[in-house]
Amino acid sequence: MTSRPKSGEFDLIARFFEPLSRAAPGAFALGNDGALLTPPEGASLVVTKDLMVAGVHYPEGEDPAILARRLLRVNLSDLAAMGAVARSYALGLALPADFDDAWVEAFAAGLARDQEAFGVALIGGDTVATAGPTVLSLTAFGTVAGDACLTRAGGRAGDDIYVSGTVGDATLGLRAVQGGLAALSPEDRGALAARFRLPEPRLALGAALVDIASCAIDVSDGLVADLGHLCAESGVAARIGVDAVPLSDAARRTLDGGEVEIADVVTGGDDYELLFCTPPSAREALDTLGHRLGLALTRIGAVEPGRGVTVVGADGQPLALGRTGYQHF
Ligand code: ADP
Ligand code: MG
Repeated sequence: MTSRPKSGEFDLIARFFEPLSRAAPGAFALGNDGALLTPPEGASLVVTKDLMVAGVHYPEGEDPAILARRLLRVNLSDLAAMGAVARSYALGLALPADFDDAWVEAFAAGLARDQEAFGVALIGGDTVATAGPTVLSLTAFGTVAGDACLTRAGGRAGDDIYVSGTVGDATLGLRAVQGGLAALSPEDRGALAARFRLPEPRLALGAALVDIASCAIDVSDGLVADLGHLCAESGVAARIGVDAVPLSDAARRTLDGGEVEIADVVTGGDDYELLFCTPPSAREALDTLGHRLGLALTRIGAVEPGRGVTVVGADGQPLALGRTGYQHF
């Protein structure tokens, strides 16, 4: 049996995680029982948490640096959907007893890279051994001025419905990562897989939407499912045109190849784009905002009185989708 270098719980924290806390004085160099958060005067904290389980949310054997960055990014996406400025995060790790230091080192390096990119610091966490699969958990903290956050409620009949970026790349990327979509070119395969593995939290967009949008959500379960969540919380219905849904060139080519259908694209999850509603009077402001951010903001439909989501096909008829998005249970 070869023995691998392996640290105990407290060595792990000191070696790999304490350096990630240095920008946050309230983390006490991870030497305390808890961290101190001091939001700016008049600000409110926004808190969100996501879990990732090996074999459920990512394939076993995935690059630990990518996992770390994805874990951080999906949480930052929730902060973006709330219109918050990202500040700090806490980390929960349940690792199989036979983990090795190289894995944790790479994981921490991934965190270091992205916490620099997004301006956040590690302020605490917990590290345990498990007899089950690896579980990665992150709690992110952000702030908004006063109580001015975006919520899923507030959409009104007559509002426009917009989505940022492009839709469906991540679900196609997941299929590619899992070995599907045989006809993809290497370039398209790489581009789509990257969208699944490393989503881009739309923090600048979310913060800018606080004064513009009536409601917002990030697309994690799927465009149709998440629009359904917006409608349910807002007490309204939505109608979107499938032809209006923005697609990347790679997704368009994949659809043209016939291996997937548009229904797969609009019900597939993991894009982490922002889906939001605005009064029609905001169209010009959104044009300007999209240009400023270098991010496509596409109007895909409208809010109506009633309940539920209707997706209309090219022929003007409602599409039968089979399912709306991902559910764990
Ligand atoms: P306690 O037993 O009092 O909960 P721990 O021994 O679990 O404390 O943790 C010691 C310190 O290390 C705490 O400040 C905790 O927040 C921090 N910590 C533990 N695991 C992690 C981790 N994975 N990432 C960041 N900080 C961690
Ligand atoms: Mg503990």
